[in-house]
Amino acid sequence: PTLVTLAGVNKTYDNGSQALRDLNLQVKKGDFLFVTGPSGAGKSTLLKLLYGQERATSGDIIVDGQNLAKLRGNRLAMLRRRIGIVFQDYKLIPRRTVAENVSFVLWAQGYSRREINRRLRPTLRMVGLQHKASCFPDQLSGGEQQRVSIARAVVGTPPLLLADEPTGNLDGDNSRQVIKILEKLNSIGITVLITTHDEPLVRASNHPVVQIQDGRLTHVRH
Ligand code: ADP
Ligand code: ADP
Repeated sequence: PTLVTLAGVNKTYDNGSQALRDLNLQVKKGDFLFVTGPSGAGKSTLLKLLYGQERATSGDIIVDGQNLAKLRGNRLAMLRRRIGIVFQDYKLIPRRTVAENVSFVLWAQGYSRREINRRLRPTLRMVGLQHKASCFPDQLSGGEQQRVSIARAVVGTPPLLLADEPTGNLDGDNSRQVIKILEKLNSIGITVLITTHDEPLVRASNHPVVQIQDGRLTHVRH
């Protein structure tokens, strides 16, 4: 079963910048896929299209059976709830604790206090931060902050997790730890897509790789 399909996708920004050209990609349920390529190649744009933050100029994007070009408003918001996303710079809320940062999305979606508590503990345990639940982001290392952001991305158990340069601000040890957590999530059934220009990290794994160069998908390691 296919979770994500991009067919003939082009993205040209309003300023004329052509970020993606005739891009074709299929991601199957359960895949763990690296998207590599130099800075400016179009990697973030690809994730923004999948997340519905930007719209394709042409071509089709199907995520979890839904054609993104046809989704607006509430139906787009519902699909986004089924996509977890992790950023290079974590994007945690500074004045909220780890527990609050992670539970905020569930709270905003109307989950009960009881259901939130039921999910919070195992999710924090999964990223090794159960003992930091009451800390604020600035009391954590970069690696720990990124693990909080992963917990936040998956606490709603989305089928798809997107990670945009998740190790971009981390040293080697923390980067490997983050990849391990993403692999663990993949092993419990979450489909994972990671953009990165960290070649050593990609070489150290044997997951499939697609490369984007100048907006074109140029190379594949199956
Ligand atoms: P080659 O013949 O060079 O091995 P393929 O035809 O096997 O190339 O595959 C290239 C195509 O595979 C690319 O267009 C790429 O979009 C597509 N592809 C689709 N899904 C995946 C995936 N999950 N992993 C790797 N490649 C994929
Ligand atoms: P990457 O993530 O691989 O570094 P991006 O997807 O961020 O690449 O950028 C791809 C191309 O699109 C670059 O030329 C970039 O300058 C351009 N671009 C990205 N975002 C915008 C935007 N909001 N407006 C105009 N051009 C953009």
